[in-house]
Amino acid sequence: MIRIEGLSKSYGDVPVLRNCSLDVARGEVVVICGPSGSGKSTFVKCINGIEPVQAGRIAIDGENLPSKPAAAARVRARVGMVFQHFELYPHLTVLENVCLAQIHVLKRSRDEAQEKARSLLRRVGLADKEASYPAQLSGGQQQRIAIVRALAMDPVAMLFDEPTSALDPEMIGEVLAVMLELAREGMTMVVVTHEMGFAKAAADRVVFMDQGEIVEVAETARFFAEPASERARLFLSRIL
Ligand code: ADP
Ligand code: MG
Repeated sequence: MIRIEGLSKSYGDVPVLRNCSLDVARGEVVVICGPSGSGKSTFVKCINGIEPVQAGRIAIDGENLPSKPAAAARVRARVGMVFQHFELYPHLTVLENVCLAQIHVLKRSRDEAQEKARSLLRRVGLADKEASYPAQLSGGQQQRIAIVRALAMDPVAMLFDEPTSALDPEMIGEVLAVMLELAREGMTMVVVTHEMGFAKAAADRVVFMDQGEIVEVAETARFFAEPASERARLFLSRIL
């Protein structure tokens, strides 16, 4: 579903990603972990075509992602992205937030968009919040709405960049539960997270990044039991 070959990227003359390659199969869940500054966020932004790349190829569902972000918009619309900060539109209600791109990008009718939004809101237990504004919701609720907003676009894959790291501890579980359910339903997912419990429960494979490189890609159980690289071993010993 996602094919990344020889991806390299610099900010100015500072290299941030070096020759990264990764294939993500349809329905697969891949967790990306690694130290702060290792290039995880940049990597998922490149997959989503938000950041231009200097070398390498990215294909989503067999379609090559153009290297210029403006040209990538059509491919990008097929991939849902959820960031650390919820980024809901503060002046729009929950329902309007979830309908906006459906109407303007997918050209759905308002009725059709609302029907889709309501069925997804029900699934994440937030049907009663459709008329609320983001500021009236908790962080965990806002992040679940952000996930719903991405899902409303019928993405072929979902990318998450530390979706729970800005949340108060008691709200992390409700967001991870939605993500876990999505994984079990067969969504193709790439998730940057430090939540190793989620990785163990949901991930088929774990990618370990360090200093702009994919150091290790391993099946989840093996990654935690016996990471192949010294750097991954050190990282795990610090966070577990
Ligand atoms: P991570 O998500 O693993 O913490 P990032 O992808 O955010 O890592 O950052 C990787 C490196 O790229 C870091 O050294 C960071 O300082 C640098 N970087 C990230 N974004 C930018 C930017 N917009 N301009 C310049 N440097 C950046
Ligand atoms: Mg990051």
